[in-house]
Amino acid sequence: MHQIWVPLNDIPSGGQEYEVDEASVWAAPIKEFSLPYQVAEPLRATVFLLPQEDGVLVRGTLGGKVSVPCDRCAEPTLVAVEHRFESFEPFPGEDDDADVDTEVLRPVPEGKGFEISLSGLLWEEFLLALPVKPLCGGACKGLCPSCGKNLNEGPCACAHEEGDPRLAVLRGVRIDKH
Ligand SMILES: [Zn+2]
Ligand SMILES: [Zn+2]
Repeated sequence: MHQIWVPLNDIPSGGQEYEVDEASVWAAPIKEFSLPYQVAEPLRATVFLLPQEDGVLVRGTLGGKVSVPCDRCAEPTLVAVEHRFESFEPFPGEDDDADVDTEVLRPVPEGKGFEISLSGLLWEEFLLALPVKPLCGGACKGLCPSCGKNLNEGPCACAHEEGDPRLAVLRGVRIDKH
């Protein structure tokens, strides 16, 4: 996938801000991992990088609109991404396994110091920005667990235990009396 690597040695000591709006930063991993996301309004990010002795301070914003499946009914649901982030990315130590958890920072190939992947960073922040359980609406009825019908479109033919489970217990009591 297309990556944007920034050598930290190129950044002035006061830090540097970058604007990223290349669609491939998000579109490429969405495609690569076959994720059910669709960018509905172009994502735009600003990233401020401030190199430190032992890592780099990262601060930024990410905005746009993405369509994701509703957590209950799986219908496409528009989510406004308005994300602010701030993190510290430590330089990978000599003892660290180079393959694990260090995809965002790596030594400059055949050079000095480290470089940071803006694209990798912004992909991680994108995933963090998405709601854990997106809903198409607060009243989404979801799918029938038996037949899979979208219950927002109407009831299905299955028999359902409806409503509050405590009421179901009361209903059971009533049946027992007869
Ligand atoms: Zn839904
Ligand atoms: Zn059903």
